[in-house]
Amino acid sequence: MIDALPPLREVVTRHGLDAKKTLGQNFLFDLNLTGRIARAAGPFDDTVVVEIGPGPGGLTRALLAQGAKVIAIERDARCLPALEEIAQHYPGRLTVVEGDALAIDVADLARAHGADGKARICANLPYNVATALLTRWIEAEPWPSVFDRYVLMFQKEVALRIVATPKNRADYGRLAVLCGWRTKARLLFDVSPAAFTPPPKVTSSVVELVPNPAPLPCDAPALTRVTQAAFGQRRKMLRQSLKSLGVDAATLLARAGLEETRRAEEIDVAGFVALANAFSAR
Ligand code: SAM
Repeated sequence: MIDALPPLREVVTRHGLDAKKTLGQNFLFDLNLTGRIARAAGPFDDTVVVEIGPGPGGLTRALLAQGAKVIAIERDARCLPALEEIAQHYPGRLTVVEGDALAIDVADLARAHGADGKARICANLPYNVATALLTRWIEAEPWPSVFDRYVLMFQKEVALRIVATPKNRADYGRLAVLCGWRTKARLLFDVSPAAFTPPPKVTSSVVELVPNPAPLPCDAPALTRVTQAAFGQRRKMLRQSLKSLGVDAATLLARAGLEETRRAEEIDVAGFVALANAFSAR
């Protein structure tokens, strides 16, 4: 037991929180697991933690029990009464924001709650919007943002795409380049489908992303354009795949110092940054 609140299964039954697939609802009831995820985001010293999708509040309770101040963004209004019970148990430590996390500036929200550069994001993300949320957070300006760590659960397949390098060709792509540019990402541990209610079809993984305080200078939209073009035809040579940018690919590659015959999956983050900068300067 981590607090005097009722067990999560009872909370879910009492509030009629049957899981909705459209909202990516796969709940965690195992206190050892929620505790482990929260510890990976800690230690907390009244640290502001933004949690996306608290649902009935399993991970929220683990974060609070370990000393975090939590701002939880939840889209499903059915979860609000259950979260209100937790807020009452931890006076002044839990703020619940009803809304779509994709439409909320999480850095502004954390700052409005007193975060001063030591805020975190910790979440068992809804899988249908997980990549969109991560991309938005990593492309945010200014960088580094108010968050000093992101501890996030994804489908394992997405987690592998986040931490991939050119050595892991099949998984290496736009997401790895973006995350590798602005963060140091590593896979912490896998979570079996059986840990969730209802169980998803695939294994999940918890990933830690620590912001790089001084990433190579680069314009995020330009990096997106060149990685989209290059990985859109990942088996083709760059002189071919980059034609879709509507510029002279040979000149662009020469300016970036890259051989025309290389393929996207062989180019490291520094190479893509050089390409994005050549594209911006055209
Ligand atoms: N944190 C809980 C847990 O670990 O048991 C629930 C995690 S469940 C995988 C994802 C949660 O995100 C659900 O509660 C769902 O309602 C919520 N959600 C889905 N889409 C959302 C969105 N766009 N913005 C905020 N919350 C969302």
